[in-house]
Amino acid sequence: MKQYLSNKINDLPASATLTMAAKAREMKNEGVDIIGLSLGEPDFNIPEFIKDAAIDAINDNYNSYTPVDGYLDLKQSISNKFKRDNNLNYNTNQIVVSTGAKQSIANAVQALVKPGEEVILLAPFWVSYSAIVLMAEGIPKIIKSDISSDFKVDAEEIEKAISDKTKMIIINSPNNPSGSIFKFEELNKIASVLIKYPQIFVLSDEIYEHINYGVKHVSFASIAGMYERTITVNGIAKAFAMTGWRIGYLGAPEWIAKACTKLQGQVTSGANCIAQKATIKALTESPKKINYMIQEFKERKNMIIKLLSEIKGFKLNNPDGAFYVFPDISYYFGKEIAGKIINSASDFAMIILEKAHVATVTGDAFGCPKNIRISYAASQENIKEAVNRIKNLLN
Ligand code: GLU
Repeated sequence: MKQYLSNKINDLPASATLTMAAKAREMKNEGVDIIGLSLGEPDFNIPEFIKDAAIDAINDNYNSYTPVDGYLDLKQSISNKFKRDNNLNYNTNQIVVSTGAKQSIANAVQALVKPGEEVILLAPFWVSYSAIVLMAEGIPKIIKSDISSDFKVDAEEIEKAISDKTKMIIINSPNNPSGSIFKFEELNKIASVLIKYPQIFVLSDEIYEHINYGVKHVSFASIAGMYERTITVNGIAKAFAMTGWRIGYLGAPEWIAKACTKLQGQVTSGANCIAQKATIKALTESPKKINYMIQEFKERKNMIIKLLSEIKGFKLNNPDGAFYVFPDISYYFGKEIAGKIINSASDFAMIILEKAHVATVTGDAFGCPKNIRISYAASQENIKEAVNRIKNLLN
């Protein structure tokens, strides 16, 4: 039936994170005892104060279509949040609420990138960036990095990758999958390169802003000269354990926000009414209210790093944020595990799924073919058991 599908769909890679999660779910349904460390999905309950706001919205009969760009009171609370946390002034006309940060990213890329224009991606990059660029008929221009630079690309390398076709660069800090966070000086250096190329836009994906273990978060748009060309994307999924509620948002120059609204109006319309009302509550309360989650993530991070470091052939960085570790496992390439020769990170992820029953994601999908991504947004008990299983398999 492939011949009936559009070229766009045939050429589109499936999301590696969602594919792995679906495979793990399928095995679980078949009765296999899988530990899922593939999805970046907090395992906490939604804080009670947010649940209450959603219940109130239902009881208050919020059931109609919402404005395409989001409820005005939600956009006002997003505007306040940008001011409070990020030192950014976006008025409500500059804000668009979407069905998840992923849609905000897709909106911005579709709105700006023309066929044949290049979008610079800093590897490791989140799996869907390249697919989103391809859907806009743009060209992903990937700059590699690895564990030796803490998975960070510097300003000089970025300048080398710029061509007259470059339209956009996507910056993701804290980074999924490496957990690295760009410091102000590093972002400032990148900005001092970009200032020379006024045709380049910056998409700053800050969805992991609050999952931070101590490095100061800097919003790219707050750096001198960058506000007019930056689209700041954020959402509530990661910080408030609200992945399934599907609310993301962006702040941008008004003409870009308008373009995103026009696109969204033809694709999905406004985001879910109840989830929007709950989001107002989430963003209005102090971010300190979720400190207990961050503390727990930090403990899990320290634990998983310690446990994985005890396994031969796992090279790890110490992430400053997000909830993933991204070990280099290339030591195992060419070696045999459970009767299978491992030639790639995908082989490695597959063998640990099939034989150790632990779901992870191959680094290939993030532009780093020597690594795998392990999410530690799971209970300490599950993390311990998962690492034990991997260890036993490799021994
Ligand atoms: N952003 C999460 C992850 O990387 C959710 C899955 C997805 O949308 O890719 O696991």
